[in-house]
Amino acid sequence: MFASMEGRSVIVTGGSKGIGKGIARVFAQHGAHVLIAARDESALQVAAEELSGEGAGRVETVVADVAKVEDCRRLADVAVELFGGIDVLCANAGIFPDKPFLELTEDDVDAVLACNLKGTMFAVQACVPALEASGHGRVVVTSSITGPITGYPGWSHYGASNAAQLGFVRTVAIELAPKRVTVNAVLPGNIATEGLDEMGDDYIRGTEACIPQHRLGTVEDIGHAALFFASDEAGYITGQTLVVDGGQVLPESPAALEGI
Ligand code: NAP
Repeated sequence: MFASMEGRSVIVTGGSKGIGKGIARVFAQHGAHVLIAARDESALQVAAEELSGEGAGRVETVVADVAKVEDCRRLADVAVELFGGIDVLCANAGIFPDKPFLELTEDDVDAVLACNLKGTMFAVQACVPALEASGHGRVVVTSSITGPITGYPGWSHYGASNAAQLGFVRTVAIELAPKRVTVNAVLPGNIATEGLDEMGDDYIRGTEACIPQHRLGTVEDIGHAALFFASDEAGYITGQTLVVDGGQVLPESPAALEGI
């Protein structure tokens, strides 16, 4: 049995939708106080209403753009003000616009790296003093199988940002170890979200056919992986990755899935 999350202070960036909302739901159901952050205030309010009452803890919102360092600092300040500290940061906010590599502009690449990589790094940096003070600080980064393990046409910049996140995780895990802060990453496969819906039916059906479990993941599948990394019992695990993909990266070729 895992120790209780009750009363723990948790930040989830990108918590208004998709995977972030699923992570926030799982922590709320386990009694944590959760601060969800995103840029669109109305979506945050809708999510907070939906999540309130899921558990004993509070669900609060903050408008913040993680691509801006000052917003990352404000996010940490708001969590400390509201909940008295920070025990867990789920650095989950991310964007995945698709564009063929040969058409990419410097602005396209900057936008993806600013949110997915820089946003992760500066959200973590801003939270470190409070995470250290908690005595059991946890950082859980949402990366992806795309980049670290697989590739997909149109996502060269996105894939690069996800792989770069892991370079960050492995290094900062060493730097923060003396502060008793662990840093790990969840690598989702294809998860049913609003963002993925925009990829269209063909993409979704084609993907399901390549997954041994023949279904997309749920946002709660990722939430439970994040919850594990955040637990007291995972305190000796740092700088690691956990793939949550229904087995998608396993087949050596389509033949491995024949008859399955
Ligand atoms: P989503 O449904 O599009 O939700 C993205 C969330 O991030 C929203 O809350 C969005 O709100 C927020 N966000 C985006 N840019 C932000 C910024 N600059 N500052 C603060 N918040 C920002 O996406 P998702 O599918 O849940 O993806 C979440 C994470 O999982 C991403 O890092 C993505 O790369 C990763 N991932 C997703 C999948 C999948 O299958 N869905 C698979 C692998 C990895 P606002 O737009 O209001 O800011």
